[in-house]
Amino acid sequence: MDLRYSQSEEAFRAELRSWLAEVVPVLPPRPSPHDWPARRAFDTAWQKMLYDAGYAGIDWPVQGGGRGASPVEQLVYLEELERAHAPYVGVNFVGLLHAGPTIVVEGTPEQRARFLPPILRGDEVWCQGFSEPDAGSDLASLRTRAVRHGDDYVVTGTKIWTSHAEVADCCELLVRTSDEGPKHKGITWLIMPMDAPGIEIRPLRTISGSSEFAELFLDGVRVPVANRVGAENDGWRVTMVTLSFERGTAFVGELLETMELLRRLKVSARRSGAWDEGEVRHRVGQMGAELDALWALARRNISQATRTGVPGTGASVFKLAFSELRQRVAQLGMDLLGPAGLSTDELPSADGGEPLGNGALVELWLNAFNRTIAAGTSQIQRNIVAERILGLPKA
Ligand SMILES: Cc1cc2nc3c(=O)[nH]c(=O)nc-3n(C[C@H](O)[C@H](O)[C@H](O)COP(=O)(O)OP(=O)(O)OC[C@H]3O[C@@H](n4cnc5c(N)ncnc54)[C@H](O)[C@@H]3O)c2cc1C
Repeated sequence: MDLRYSQSEEAFRAELRSWLAEVVPVLPPRPSPHDWPARRAFDTAWQKMLYDAGYAGIDWPVQGGGRGASPVEQLVYLEELERAHAPYVGVNFVGLLHAGPTIVVEGTPEQRARFLPPILRGDEVWCQGFSEPDAGSDLASLRTRAVRHGDDYVVTGTKIWTSHAEVADCCELLVRTSDEGPKHKGITWLIMPMDAPGIEIRPLRTISGSSEFAELFLDGVRVPVANRVGAENDGWRVTMVTLSFERGTAFVGELLETMELLRRLKVSARRSGAWDEGEVRHRVGQMGAELDALWALARRNISQATRTGVPGTGASVFKLAFSELRQRVAQLGMDLLGPAGLSTDELPSADGGEPLGNGALVELWLNAFNRTIAAGTSQIQRNIVAERILGLPKA
């Protein structure tokens, strides 16, 4: 990967920057973080704007309906979005960042034609039905069963921690289709329409008070066999593709957001005088260096994903290091601001833009706890790094 910007990449940046300068200032106010129907309306409207302007699915290949941007253009895109304080993917996270990319790589032409355009246009929102009450880290133990009846699978079981289930149209669902042989050989990856009869959604409240995720009770839900991605009982292999996107490239937008947060904290510390303390400067410097290193790793992962179609094991390194660092940056914010971290206008932007308001820091601090659990815990990422990268023996 050549990290210098070519003329065409600079032209791409200029064109995107001027479009963002036109549209971002006139967006409607962002909805409350806990009003999920309003968030769906806001996020999908933004996605439609990106689509109409030719920026939807920037990292998706052209044959998947995306822009097929080069790795450098993808990074420029993320940088410019952050610079303009534009919305990020929001409730479109699963569809855009891992279900869609999985269908691009593993889906049939019919599945690509049916499911990809509505994701890119913001017409359909996706959720992820992988975890179960007794199958989180040990995902292959999942027990939600699918039995074939004619042209349908009939699905019964329980899923948990299903983010955005209440506002989703489709679910990437893992089911058990066989008990023979090793447990990961009996899993199948399905696309479940969320309006199918037999789905009960019970919201769960998070530490920040949001009903971000839910339990799903599935009772005889009929899912067409045509919605199976990959072969029956080959779902574990497809799942590895999904998880490599989820861990490898899906959090890159949040990395830029964390860099911006650190810049804001620095401005705030200078204003309050906390900057005079050597320990504060040391923490900011250390975290800044780690964020820069992660940005370099993100470039590598994006470059690899573009070359090979899917991110590699660097995905786990990134997920592990980033989610732990995000917690430390959020903690620095709370340490610096104390009770003022709860207020609406204490965290100025580094470049004169909008202050981070409405208790956004405390929201971010609370949510940072879940990042070392979501998409596979830190312990599981350490196991993957130890076994698959360092070649250490299995625990
Ligand atoms: C914000 C958030 C959003 C989520 N969204 C979704 C979603 O949309 N869809 C979905 O399907 N799931 C989702 N999840 C669930 C997530 O994938 C699981 O919580 C995660 O995989 C851990 O599983 P668990 O909660 O069952 O914990 P467990 O697997 O029970 O783990 C408990 C503890 O034991 C440790 N542990 C377990 N096994 C090992 C081992 N082999 N070696 C070392 N330590 C181990 C874990 O690290 C953890 O500390 C979400 C979770 C969060 C926090």
